[in-house]
Amino acid sequence: MTFAELANPGVLTQPIYEPGKPIDTVARELGLDPTGIIKLASNENPHGSSPLAIAAAQRALQEANLYPDGGYYSLRQKLSAKLGLGMDQFVMGNGSNELIELMGHAFLAPGAECVMHQSAFIVYKLVTLMFGAKPVEVSLAAGLRQDLPALLAAVTPKTKLVFLASPANPTGATSTAEEIMALVRALPPHVILVMDEAYVDFLDNAPDLRPLIAEGKKVICLRTFSKIYGLASLRIGYGYAAPELIAILQRVRQPFNVNAIASAAAVAALDDEEFVTKCRRENRVGLAQLGAGFTQLGLEFVPAQGNFVLVKVGDGGAAFDALQRQGVITRPVKGYGLPEWLRVTVGTQAQNERLLKTLASVLAKR
Ligand SMILES: *Cc1c(COP(=O)(O)O)cnc(C)c1O
Repeated sequence: MTFAELANPGVLTQPIYEPGKPIDTVARELGLDPTGIIKLASNENPHGSSPLAIAAAQRALQEANLYPDGGYYSLRQKLSAKLGLGMDQFVMGNGSNELIELMGHAFLAPGAECVMHQSAFIVYKLVTLMFGAKPVEVSLAAGLRQDLPALLAAVTPKTKLVFLASPANPTGATSTAEEIMALVRALPPHVILVMDEAYVDFLDNAPDLRPLIAEGKKVICLRTFSKIYGLASLRIGYGYAAPELIAILQRVRQPFNVNAIASAAAVAALDDEEFVTKCRRENRVGLAQLGAGFTQLGLEFVPAQGNFVLVKVGDGGAAFDALQRQGVITRPVKGYGLPEWLRVTVGTQAQNERLLKTLASVLAKR
């Protein structure tokens, strides 16, 4: 008997998430100087982390011998005050990715279906398959726009979860508040909408689903400290929803699923308005810079509001390779069924300029 024969059904066919490569790995593989490499591949914050968060993390490290407060009281209190929801409406996750998995633990089993868009964030599909449920992938509309009526039309009596992100990753497509509200209102009572708000902090007017949660509509919103707060390495995110749903998720998580260093950093990051405002402003400048640059190169791109842009380059894999050889790491999205596109994270202005210059030279050589 081999280990493979002993593994649970589905484990061996479970697709593997391919993260953007760390700078050191690329340097080692290509024989490049790591200090000359820029990474615009994982939608990380190019301005670092909130300094208040770093200071709080360093203080928390002094007590690394102690288990965290598994109730995450300070953090839930801060979020409660900030969002005007009850403390019992928040659950913390080891990154918001873990919260997607917790939704699987709580609600998915073989025979269940999950509805999502084609080219949606791959973790929705990975979690669906991990629990033996069936991903139902709905086509995007023209221009890679999301089609919320089509999501609704794909719901069956077996549907448990509908996954939606706005802005979506990797496409960058956004849905309006009206479209999202209409979907939530139309979903039947046996279906929960998982609203992924990973990039919500970059928006001017983010859709607000709190009134629908208060009305008793079945929706959970997921947020992360990985993007605008610049804490991707610490792995922390949160979900907010009705207390009854949160209580279910608390039952299926590990007792200390988020470490104390991450939770202390998150509390401090929520207070660092100055850092968030700066990052939002710089991101907007960067989006305009990339948009203008792509237009000048004659490249089609999806109008973006998050901290990344999907741009059509012809052969995405070849462009990715050529850019990487010149020390610019981007993200090919062939695995998402988008072989002609590249996803580029908004960097600092200098990084964006380098990306545009390098891309111009790469495309000129074709
Ligand atoms: C980055 C991202 C997340 C958050 O991931 P973490 O696990 O919190 O780092 C969730 N959803 C989408 C669509 C993302 O792009």
